[in-house]
Amino acid sequence: MEEKKHKRIGISLRFFVTAVIILVGAMVLLLYSIVSSKTYKNKYMSMLMDDLKFQSQIIAESIILNDYQIDGELNLGTDIDSVASFFDGRIIIVDAQYRIIKDTYISMEGSNIINSQVMKAMKQQSVISGEEAGFIQYIYPIVCEGVCQGAVIIIAPTDKIQSMTNQLSQRNVATCALILVACVIAAVFAGLASVRGINYINRQMEIVGEGHFDTHIPEKGFNEFKTMTGKYNATIDRLMRVDSTRQEFVSNVSHELKTPITSMKVLADSLVENEQADLAMYKEFMTDIVEEIDRETKIINDLLTLVRMDKKSTKPNIEEISINQLLEVILKRVTPLAETRGIEITYESYRDVVAEVDEVKLSLALTNIIENAVKYNIDNGWIKVTLNADHKNFYIKVADSGVGIPDDCKEQVFERFYRVDKARSRDTGGTGLGLAITKNVILMHKGTVKLYSESGEGTTFSIRIPLKYVEG
Ligand code: ADP
Repeated sequence: MEEKKHKRIGISLRFFVTAVIILVGAMVLLLYSIVSSKTYKNKYMSMLMDDLKFQSQIIAESIILNDYQIDGELNLGTDIDSVASFFDGRIIIVDAQYRIIKDTYISMEGSNIINSQVMKAMKQQSVISGEEAGFIQYIYPIVCEGVCQGAVIIIAPTDKIQSMTNQLSQRNVATCALILVACVIAAVFAGLASVRGINYINRQMEIVGEGHFDTHIPEKGFNEFKTMTGKYNATIDRLMRVDSTRQEFVSNVSHELKTPITSMKVLADSLVENEQADLAMYKEFMTDIVEEIDRETKIINDLLTLVRMDKKSTKPNIEEISINQLLEVILKRVTPLAETRGIEITYESYRDVVAEVDEVKLSLALTNIIENAVKYNIDNGWIKVTLNADHKNFYIKVADSGVGIPDDCKEQVFERFYRVDKARSRDTGGTGLGLAITKNVILMHKGTVKLYSESGEGTTFSIRIPLKYVEG
């Protein structure tokens, strides 16, 4: 429902890309057609203007060359008429007294024409007017030896130019319409291409959502799509790893919890089936059952500790405590166990160390390491615990003379339920969760734990933790 709602509200990328391309294409074409028709109109107008100037100059020069007295009789009439008909316009010649001596329309010959433009021409200036009113009027002064003898007025209509420009505009519109159709087709394809990759990933995600994680996408196509599929594949790999770790963990947990229960069942069955079982046998078997119950309880407690630490929301209880005292308390607790096997524990502290830590959790982590040093030691062996610090961190080393850890197991010993020697771990009451808890606690304090070991020659765990607790 929620998903459908989102689909309805949002704008599709495909629509967006298509619309933008069409819009930009349409705007460019519109601009092009406006600019091109304006340019053509201006070009034709300026050509006409040049012609008018040229012809009026020729007429004026002919009048002067023929030594024509403008107020005398005009014998250039036929030439002027053909020039006027060439322009489809009208030519008027006025003398210095503003009297019209030649009008190709004849109608105004003999009358006077006095207006500001003609007056300006009489001052030996050419005058252009009327461009916007559907015609062009060009007035050219007839100057002989520096004296203005009159003026040539040429009036030419611009309707031909207008109709030519209109025709051109129509042709432009047709061309633009064709280009626009091509634009729309290109936009539709571009829109499709732009979302094809996304749609493909969407479909793959739906498949992943249904629980099928094994869905890699080939990294090809556009660069952005390649980057996206690369990231998608990496996420899928991570998901698959998480899923398989989770499955492995669940099967490990089930197995570990089942083992003590199976033992208890075997012990209880033996008692039930053995009719001659005496009190001593009952006591012995019941003691074994109690041991199995203790073991089961320990596994459950360790699991709960891990689960609690995995929860990101659980905040550690940070306090400033003396690490020297903490180690002394742990060693005091572990010493009796070590003494039963003649193992000697020495503790060396180079300075008093006070640090911000979660006391309970750190105590648990250190206890695990020191207890392991006892559990996996040889009889009459030794354990050396040292504490040191600099201005930033404190360092704890726990070295033992025990059985050591083979090279290929060094990484795995920090994994949940991993044990180098299953039988030995079980005999010593191990759950295989101790070092996993330790590592979690140290990471929670933004510290590090390293182990150095030679098979058969002992093990050293080296821990570094910041003195000031770093949050986040
Ligand atoms: P366990 O409960 O089995 O002790 P841990 O997580 O504490 O589980 O340790 C994992 C495994 O690492 C142990 O089973 C053991 O094989 C090995 N290990 C841990 N500490 C030592 C040590 N000091 N010397 C030798 N092996 C060790």
